[in-house]
Amino acid sequence: MALPSAKPFNRFEAPLEVGLHQDGRRLTPQRRKVLELFERIGAGMHLSAEDVHHQLLEARSRVSLATIYRTLRLLVQMGFLHELELSEGGHRFELSSDDHPDHHHLVCVRCGRTEEFESEQVLQAGRIAAERIGFHLIESTLNVRALCPTCQSQ
Ligand SMILES: [Zn+2]
Ligand SMILES: [Zn+2]
Repeated sequence: MALPSAKPFNRFEAPLEVGLHQDGRRLTPQRRKVLELFERIGAGMHLSAEDVHHQLLEARSRVSLATIYRTLRLLVQMGFLHELELSEGGHRFELSSDDHPDHHHLVCVRCGRTEEFESEQVLQAGRIAAERIGFHLIESTLNVRALCPTCQSQ
């Protein structure tokens, strides 16, 4: 939820096809396959490169892990995916979505389980901190490192 006084700059507003053409780079069939996988599973799912590799293999698409890493990075640069850095678990990727803009993550440091939450207070804190020193706010996100119930009981 964006605050009315500080609408965040959003480079994700362009629909898929428009974005691709404006960007001027052709999406290869492999890149499209990766993006389609994220679109199929929908917003709010957080996949590692290994997850993507595994799912594509199950769909009988032979794409090397190295290609998937490059593709994911490119799709992040193009604004289609959002990258989430986890301290222990590496990187997770999720679909950028207008329905689902400013959200935060609770990440289990042991198994990587990732849950989302929304917080008006986090957005507020970011806005106040930025305004105080004259920064223009783009986004405020919070990643919380934690242990999930399953990992706590182990
Ligand atoms: Zn998320
Ligand atoms: Zn866990």
